[in-house]
Amino acid sequence: MRIRRLKLSGFKSFVEPAELRIDPGLTGVVGPNGCGKSNLLEAIRWVMGESSPKSMRGGGMEDVIFAGTASRPPRAFAEVVIQVQTADAEDLEVVRRIERGAGSAYRVNGRDVRAKDVALIFADAATGAHSPALVSQGRIAAVIAAKPAERRAMLEEAAGIAGLHVRRKDAETKLRATEANLARLDDLMAGLD
Ligand code: ATP
Repeated sequence: MRIRRLKLSGFKSFVEPAELRIDPGLTGVVGPNGCGKSNLLEAIRWVMGESSPKSMRGGGMEDVIFAGTASRPPRAFAEVVIQVQTADAEDLEVVRRIERGAGSAYRVNGRDVRAKDVALIFADAATGAHSPALVSQGRIAAVIAAKPAERRAMLEEAAGIAGLHVRRKDAETKLRATEANLARLDDLMAGLD
């Protein structure tokens, strides 16, 4: 999966709509301290479904919305659009938007989807909000200190099989519901005899 374009609006320090085209090859982001370099990486993780405010360096999920400065009022929403090219050369546009008091909504190629669907798309492509492909500040030390089970989860994410665990959990939930329905059906049938 290759990121082609990133658009941010009202996200953290990116108050005005900003668009970045990411060409093939190595891309470097340079700038003075506090100019928003880490915010860019956080925008990528956020649009991929990050659900932990702490890993977005915030107290609550709405903290990603531009909070205002002495000269600019706060924004009512934040939106990040990521355009990626998948392994089978398909173009995907994923949008995540959060409005104050209204939570997050996701769209993939213009269609409303659930957070889980977005997380699965990126997990299958061996990337995603918690993928080792995205290394934030302080993360190297965390990888070194990780427990074996955590390290295994990182390897599974890198191998692109993390999505399978989510699907397995879903399948097990459905199986349990079906078993409960069957048991109820047996009871009803017994009542008819
Ligand atoms: P460094 O090189 O020091 O790591 P950086 O270029 O990575 O800096 P970031 O950490 O991405 O910079 O950006 C921090 C800036 O983003 C700070 O000025 C902070 O005030 C601003 N910022 C973060 N969240 C918000 C928000 N919700 N609203 C407005 N500004 C925000």
